[in-house]
Formats: sequence, C-alpha cells, structure tokens
Amino acid sequence: MGQVTVIGSYVVDLMSRTPHLPVPGETVLGGPFQMGPGGKGGNQATAAARSGSDVTFVTKIGLDVFGEEAMRHFEREGFNVQFIKRSETDATGTALIAVDDRGENNIVIAPGACGTMKRLDVIEAETAIKKADILLIQLEISLEAIKAAIEQASIHRVPVLLNPAPYLPFPSDWLQHVTYATPNETEARGLTGVDVVDESSAQKAANFLHEKGVRVVIITLGEKGVYVSDGTSRGKFIEGFSVKAVDTTGAGDAFNGGFAHAVSSGMPVEEAVQFGQAVAALSVTKIGTAASMPSIEEIKAFLK
Ligand code: ADP
Repeated sequence: MGQVTVIGSYVVDLMSRTPHLPVPGETVLGGPFQMGPGGKGGNQATAAARSGSDVTFVTKIGLDVFGEEAMRHFEREGFNVQFIKRSETDATGTALIAVDDRGENNIVIAPGACGTMKRLDVIEAETAIKKADILLIQLEISLEAIKAAIEQASIHRVPVLLNPAPYLPFPSDWLQHVTYATPNETEARGLTGVDVVDESSAQKAANFLHEKGVRVVIITLGEKGVYVSDGTSRGKFIEGFSVKAVDTTGAGDAFNGGFAHAVSSGMPVEEAVQFGQAVAALSVTKIGTAASMPSIEEIKAFLK
C-alpha cells in the first residue's frame, strides 16, 4: 500500500440552504443545514485514503466540538492521526457556506487552528514526511509551513505533489523541488502568466513550470479533462469521464487525492491521471466535498 502524507488545511463545512443570499444587514430564514468535513488538505487526504493509500494527515484543529468531530472523521477514514495537533487557543477551522436556490453561494472561511500552523509544526512531523512515497500539499496553510514541508521532502528525497490552490504568489525556487504540479486553469495563469485556452497555451504554461524545475505538469481543465506534460516531449490532452455532475466542488481535491494514491503506488503517470480523473468524476456525481469521495470499490467498478 502506498504511503501518502498530506500536510494541509482542515475546516468543517457548515452549509445552509437559503431562498436567497442575504444582502448586508439582512437576516434570512434558511432551509436545511448540513455539516461535513472540508478543507483542501482534509478532502485530498480522504480521497487518497478511500482510493487505497495509507494516509498520514498533518494538520491542526481545536479542542472544540468541531475538533472532536474532525478526529472522528479522520479515524473513520483510517488516517494515521499521530501528527494531528490540537490547539488550546484556536478554534477548529470553519467554512460558513450559504447556497441559494439557484446554486449561487457565499462562503466565509475562518481557518482557525490550521491557519496557525508554523514551520515547527512541520519539522515535528519529519518522520511522517520521511516515510512517505509522496508528499501532497496545497496552498491553504501558511507559506512558512509549506516551505518547511518542501524542504523536508527535498532532504529526504520524497516526491512532492503540489496542488497550487488557491493560488497565491510564492518564491519560484520552491518549484525545483516539486515533482508534480496540478494547477487548474486559474492557478496556471497565476503561476505562469499564461492564459490556458488551448493545447499550445497549455504547453507554454507547462514549459514555464518545467524550466523552474517541475518534472510533471498536469493542468486540470474541469469537465474537459487534463493537459499532461513531462517535459521530455510534447505534452498531451487527456479527456475526462462524462458523468451527470450534481456538485463539482472538490473535483480538484478528488483528482489530487486519487492521482497521489495511484502514482505513489507505482502506476505510470498517464494511467495515474486516468485514475485521478475517475475519482474526480465519481465525486462530482455526489453532493459534498470530503463526503463525496468514492470508495475503492466504486472506483474499480467505474474503471472496468
Ligand atoms: P478544481 O476543482 O481544482 O477547479 P477542475 O475543475 O479542473 O479542478 O477539476 C479537476 C478534475 O476533475 C478535472 O480534470 C476532471 O477530471 C474532473 N472533473 C471536474 N468537473 C467534472 C465534470 N463535470 N465531469 C467529470 N469530471 C469532472
């Protein structure tokens, strides 16, 4: 079984339906309420674990009731929880989400404890990085913590999968330690300045990242699929799976968790990409983020 270590965010999604989104100062009587695990780190860890990997999740949560609920989720999913920190001062991260009848939303994220992760928190998780077949990171925690994670992986020669989401500027020399980068179109524009609109612009964006040291670039293109380039020859577009989508939030997280599992268990990149795309396609057929990640049985049946 592949060892995937995820260092990243955890927030609890608190979602209310509402007939319309409140304007400033307005209180709206909403519809049903739903609570579920979220945050890019937690979602990707869930996708990798359900795909079949042995997952160690490094994050920080509070001592509050949401922290208790988070621990129950982590244990249910079979994560190694040895490196989960509990803050005595900060609350567990939350995302307050309102969704109206047209599917429009308003989201306020309060990162809480996971927003306070520091370099030291990552250094203390060194053994989790050292033993990994792949380190999976996103940009939802502090740059200080991300930098430490990349450095540790580089010291221990652990491949790094960076999902640069949500995009924010960071020193480009970090990219020399990145094995796989998986931006979506918006993040690719942020990272490279290139608008990805066709294969030639996708290759241009990929070349920019290869020059900075990224070995494999995978640009995710929503329902269209992905563009994959390994820098040795011209990259190629790989179509996604056609499904009836009901909620595409977390599609990128599903792809990253699935791809991390597949590539770290030895699958060739293109095959691992198709595995990731299958996980993502299945996830968009269900509502929710972490909750919508498919099981290994569902993935196998889908890929048959
Ligand atoms: P993000 O959620 O980070 O913006 P994308 O929207 O690019 O990421 O989606 C990531 C991957 O999920 C895509 O490359 C594709 O494989 C899959 N995907 C996304 N939306 C759909 C959809 N409607 N139907 C099938 N697969 C989808």
